[in-house]
Amino acid sequence: MKVFKFGGASVKNPEGIKNLLSLVRKSNDERLIVVVSAMGKTTNALEVIIDYYFQNKSKPDRLILELYQYHKEILDELFEDNHEIFNIIKLYFEKLSHFFITSKSPSHSFVYDQVVAFGELISTSIINSFLNNNSIESTWLDARNCIKTDSNYRGGNVIWDQTQKNIVSLTKNGNVIVTQGFIGSDKNNFNTTLGREGSDYSAAIFAYSLNCDSLTIWKDVPGVLNGDPKVFDNTKLLEQISYSEAIELAFYGASVIHPKTLQPLQKKEIPLFVKSFYNPESKGTKISRGVDLFPMTPCFINKEKLILIKLSSIDFSFIVENHISEIFKSLHEFKMKVDVIQNSAISFSVCVFDKYNKIEELSKKMEKKFKLDITRDVSLFTIRHFDENSIKKISKGRTLLLEQRTEKISQLIFSN
Ligand code: ASP
Ligand code: MG
Repeated sequence: MKVFKFGGASVKNPEGIKNLLSLVRKSNDERLIVVVSAMGKTTNALEVIIDYYFQNKSKPDRLILELYQYHKEILDELFEDNHEIFNIIKLYFEKLSHFFITSKSPSHSFVYDQVVAFGELISTSIINSFLNNNSIESTWLDARNCIKTDSNYRGGNVIWDQTQKNIVSLTKNGNVIVTQGFIGSDKNNFNTTLGREGSDYSAAIFAYSLNCDSLTIWKDVPGVLNGDPKVFDNTKLLEQISYSEAIELAFYGASVIHPKTLQPLQKKEIPLFVKSFYNPESKGTKISRGVDLFPMTPCFINKEKLILIKLSSIDFSFIVENHISEIFKSLHEFKMKVDVIQNSAISFSVCVFDKYNKIEELSKKMEKKFKLDITRDVSLFTIRHFDENSIKKISKGRTLLLEQRTEKISQLIFSN
């Protein structure tokens, strides 16, 4: 048995869905679980709908209609006029609309999960019908009956034993099963979600629970590259990455694959393929047990709009444990995400991402105890498996503020 996962970008239009059909056809000799995200930017659109509802305390009719029209256009291209799918999708949108009339919950996160799940329910219904229409006898499976989580809405924690049992028993019949990524349910059967971009994780949960031979994530890129092609020139395809190497890359911010997705796969040594949707015959990337990285090459990760904070003691005393623990307590309090730290006898530098715009508050508090030097809008480049050439290339024309090296990693912070 295998799992295929298709993200929103790969099913954003009729061509994408036809492409999915041809990929499912090609693997027809094997049992297959097809995990699909919401189409295109549907989850973003649903987020806007939810925000509108909370801000205006009214039903976002126009926005719902726009989202309906987007799906309706796709249906018009894929199905004959009188196909039952038109009604099924219309009903989903009516339910969605109705939710905003009946919901009494003041909880944004709860409402969020009840609403965004429609994106995946709708996309998988369309795709399952389309496969059926094209002589693939696939079965639609409601992932909410499989993936059980706690009630931590927008970031449900999977209850593994229950989930695994459900998945095994609900996938017994059918050669091709189409199900949703991203969504699950709690003990009261309310919808939960696994966090944005959580469909990869869903796919890994299915693969783990069914001891699958492999998981393939179909993307609109050739595989995992050694850097973001929008930022770096001459990027290379990484053909093989070990689980631990992939986790390292993800830790430093590479948008490889989320560590949560890798963990269940690693436990059962299920290989993960990341392949091009447009070019299925091409190699792509394999993440599995084996060599750390092939080809062995520097990997580049870039983060922008960070803040470099340099703290030194006012009285020239050393920066030691008690100061450092105080600094970290404050960083935690103001929800700063720490990327790099470096300390010397009388100073301590820390490069942070200030997601919640708290730097003013933080510095007011710290100023009482430390001398502060704050540089805003710095860039952090992390090079894993660096060599001198790669450092030269990145440093060219930039002003270096701080550098840190370990055996495999060089991190460089530049001003902008
Ligand atoms: N549709 C969800 C999102 O856009 C889940 C996913 O795509 O993985 O975040
Ligand atoms: Mg998506």
